[in-house]
Amino acid sequence: MVSRDRIARNYRNVCSVVGPDVAVAGVVKADAYGHGALEVSRVLEAEGARWLAVSSVDEGVHLRCGGIRQARILVMGGFLGYESEALVAYDLTPAIHSLAQMRDLDRLAHAAQKPIAFHLKIDSGMSRLGTRADAGEILAALAELSCARLEGLMTHFASAADYTTSQTDDQIAYFRGICGELKEAGVHAPRVHTSSTNAIGYGRTEGNMVRAGHALYGYVSPARGEAPRQLLNVQPALTWKAKLLAVKDIPEGALVGYGGTFRAPRPMRIGILGAGYADGIFHRLSNRGRVIAAGKLTHILGTISMDLTTIDLSHTTSLVPGDEVTLLGTEGDTRLDAQQIARVAGTISYNILCSISARVKRVYE
Ligand SMILES: *Cc1c(COP(=O)(O)O)cnc(C)c1O
Repeated sequence: MVSRDRIARNYRNVCSVVGPDVAVAGVVKADAYGHGALEVSRVLEAEGARWLAVSSVDEGVHLRCGGIRQARILVMGGFLGYESEALVAYDLTPAIHSLAQMRDLDRLAHAAQKPIAFHLKIDSGMSRLGTRADAGEILAALAELSCARLEGLMTHFASAADYTTSQTDDQIAYFRGICGELKEAGVHAPRVHTSSTNAIGYGRTEGNMVRAGHALYGYVSPARGEAPRQLLNVQPALTWKAKLLAVKDIPEGALVGYGGTFRAPRPMRIGILGAGYADGIFHRLSNRGRVIAAGKLTHILGTISMDLTTIDLSHTTSLVPGDEVTLLGTEGDTRLDAQQIARVAGTISYNILCSISARVKRVYE
């Protein structure tokens, strides 16, 4: 279950943290981190969002075909040659990460006989996407453009929540240097943006636009080291439930699941859930993870199967087949969020959210 209201409130919270002069692009890549890209985009558009950001041209086309017409769509992964036609036809705005690609886009815009705006991504020290060209080289390439139009300058931080390293400060200094040199040479980029959730949360916002993903879904990563006060106040928007297919009692010594990796230390009541790793419950949570059943945290027993997960129900007699158990969310005061699950699974909350598979039915409230 995904709460539209939560996403709307989280979006408003991001807007209020960055202030009225900064545009908030809602990052809805990877099916909005599992929340449903179209539904989330509709909520954001209704809240007045002028920008959405996706990873690929395909994701952008999906939004346009689903009726997202007003918002600008930034394709953060850029585009490859075979995607040119779709880029133009669906009015998508690419992040460009090399000067060669900038020239390709210019030829494309020329052929399409329309100006195409792009955001130039600078690699300020993460060594992922972005050009490492210096300001002089960028200026020379910009001067050659006839139809493609520089609309934005952007970069991305590798360690925005980590206050034990100077990496973010170094990245900011590098990015400011390039932007400053371009400005001095008379190049004006209407949009300048560097910050995703963690940088927003810890007040490291440069320019006049931010790209918020995780925060919209209710999460900010905990900081390392001595961080400033957290500015964001967001709440998880997603609750994931699974139904009990069976409830039964097993004797002391019974083995549970593939490989018999759990042996009942005493007579137990167990529940078999109709969800497994094919739904996105990490296999690593076998014998380690927990779920909320009848309002209490309880253990996953044995190995997680493709479609089934066994849990301990010894604490309750109230649940019967057909009843729901919470895999992620809250029941009363008991909470289980993606960050808690990630810690046990040895991964990050983003990974947990993005792994909830397509066969898990999304319900919107
Ligand atoms: C995914 C992504 C974001 C959003 O990051 P969050 O931490 O989810 O806010 C922003 N910018 C780029 C380039 C990204 O890849």
